[in-house]
Amino acid sequence: MPVNEPTAMYRMLHAESIAVIGASEDRNKFGGRLIYNLIHHGFKGTLYPINPKRETIFDLKAYPNITALPSGPDVAAVAVPAKALSETLRGCAKMGVKVAIVITSQMAESGEEGAKLQDEAVAIAREAGMRILGPNCLGALNAQADVCLSPSVTMSVDKLPKGRVGVASQSGALQTAMFIRAFDAGVGFSSCITVGNQADLELSDGFEYLVDDPDTDAIFVYVEGIKDLERFRTAAQKARAANKPVVAVKAGRTEEGAAMANSHTASLTGSYDAFVALCESLGIVVTDQPDTAVLCADALARWGAPKAEGVAVFSGSGGAAALAADAIAESSFHASKLSGPAIDHLGEHLPHRKETAIIDFGGYRSPFVEDVMIESMETVADDPDTGALLMIMTPQPCMEQLAAAIRSIGTDKGVPALLCNKSGSLVDEQVNKDAKELGYPIYTSLDDCYRVIEALMAYKRILESAEGDIATEPATPEINAAARVLAPGLLTEPEAKGLLAAAGAPVTREQMAMSPDDAVAAAREIGFPVVMKGVARGLIHKSDAGAVKLNLADVAAVRSAFAEIEVAIAEAAPDAELAGCLVQEMATGGVAEAFIGASWDPQHGPAVLVGAGGVFVEVLKDVQMAAAPVSPKKARTMIEGLKLWPLFAGPRGRPKADVDALADIVHRVSVLAAHLGPQLGELDVNPVIVRAEGEGALCVDARAVWNAPQ
Ligand code: ADP
Ligand code: MG
Repeated sequence: MPVNEPTAMYRMLHAESIAVIGASEDRNKFGGRLIYNLIHHGFKGTLYPINPKRETIFDLKAYPNITALPSGPDVAAVAVPAKALSETLRGCAKMGVKVAIVITSQMAESGEEGAKLQDEAVAIAREAGMRILGPNCLGALNAQADVCLSPSVTMSVDKLPKGRVGVASQSGALQTAMFIRAFDAGVGFSSCITVGNQADLELSDGFEYLVDDPDTDAIFVYVEGIKDLERFRTAAQKARAANKPVVAVKAGRTEEGAAMANSHTASLTGSYDAFVALCESLGIVVTDQPDTAVLCADALARWGAPKAEGVAVFSGSGGAAALAADAIAESSFHASKLSGPAIDHLGEHLPHRKETAIIDFGGYRSPFVEDVMIESMETVADDPDTGALLMIMTPQPCMEQLAAAIRSIGTDKGVPALLCNKSGSLVDEQVNKDAKELGYPIYTSLDDCYRVIEALMAYKRILESAEGDIATEPATPEINAAARVLAPGLLTEPEAKGLLAAAGAPVTREQMAMSPDDAVAAAREIGFPVVMKGVARGLIHKSDAGAVKLNLADVAAVRSAFAEIEVAIAEAAPDAELAGCLVQEMATGGVAEAFIGASWDPQHGPAVLVGAGGVFVEVLKDVQMAAAPVSPKKARTMIEGLKLWPLFAGPRGRPKADVDALADIVHRVSVLAAHLGPQLGELDVNPVIVRAEGEGALCVDARAVWNAPQ
């Protein structure tokens, strides 16, 4: 029981009285399934069917209207046509209903007219202090308490699968599809919540409920878009603090950002990448399919983090074992590297010495002896490097006995033990039945098994790393001062570099020059050779326009460069206001070029990127992204994660790049992004010239999109 006033989610999922408005005996209707599912799954409280045309529904007394009830129920489940919604909700409000679950669709999702009705519904609820789930949702259920407030056809299953996985989903239909797949696999739920259009209660309300729910050990959130970043973040942090693993799937992996090619950052990242980066910073495991995600959440609820990153595979088929070896080679885990007792045991039964745990029972000197197979699995499960065990059940002797052995390893030893049935109906009879009755999962897809193992290992890494990845420095007065002088729009190179310098990142020494004489004076002060660049607001690609002159060695070169840049700008950007010529130090001694970017979006907050290749970053698309701010240590891990990392590490006798210096700039840019928030829409630092180890790195170009304060 929550200590404070129960939340709306709590009241709904522990309702003691429910009115079903639009109730019917026809299970082809939403209202019919709503009331049937409640009765069918043994709702223990008081049920009020509301239907003006009926005396009784499923032997319960029916009422013509919610206002005709003897007293107001906790919850009203509403399945009425859109036109009748406002009137219905007024009745609910009048009766003091706490939560209205609105199944009704044709609301904001269908256009302007629906949006108006939805706004009206919210206004009615707000005024009465009533909360709304939906509209356009598929309700919610608390399997542990037998409260099935869902009109989904999948709820016609014999009994609600009870388990430890809680689900909060922005899609109703997907949730119920996932529900039945999980049911078939023997996975059970604590509570499942669909939030539909989130007109009032939203995904994070469900997420928070599950974090607090003592019946939930792991959480699956299905996200279409984050409505309130702070609430999502808070719920995720509470889940971490409570040691509840969270698995997330996000819809829409398309890169809408690519359309906005104002900056490299925008074209290199879509909102999906930003979501993944956010989840990583919050310790949420991301996977790509709802069906699989729920299996991952179930495994995490059951086993938590494995003791090691090795995986042992058993099969009666040499072919299956070989395929498993391939799959493991491509994964982030490895086949268990066995030691002492396990090696000795296998030595007794295999014709050759074996140290990695991919084991084919068919290859034993005496194949398929029940006790021996079971002993093998148990011995290998006890090996210190075995974090998980996978049995690929091809048609073979002793299938039921092996399945039972897997279950007991998974239950008694606490080692994740996955059973993948590749024998179809051969084992359907007993093993599949056992899975459901004993509440132990059985998988039919090897891909699912590998993803589940990936999720377990990801969670292990989350628990081990986490701390130390996030930068903790407070913002500096220098950053505030640099930000104060900027006007909204595209920032020029010196403006963007002003922000970088304020964050302590090394930038080229440089001066603006308004005349050739100015430029000569600046060059003398900076020291030859110099670089000159045209600066004009809106001139995005300076070198494409011929407005970058490198390696200018003397006064004559500076004078002619000034004249050429003036012409180049007049041609390339005739409408741009010319701010002048930037004279800057020529960076020398680079051994590698890099790109650093920062971005902000309302759903996922600030992010930082690092990429290899400098000017070629868009061609190479080799970038790593993380939620900002990151520590220098995390920045270094990002750089090491680049495909082109070997170029920084000193390939073929070339000097090593100063990776620590680059990591420090990534960290500083991330602090800048985190501190400036929505004002810094995008920032590109490209290139960063990285010198040899110990010699530093230098930001030679930058641009940014600056937003008005919000
Ligand atoms: P833009 O990206 O707008 O075309 P840059 O300022 O990045 O213009 O300049 C283009 C290229 O010139 C850079 O990628 C870099 O290789 C080189 N460059 C620019 N400034 C310097 C500098 N100060 N020192 C050395 N090389 C530079
Ligand atoms: Mg550039």
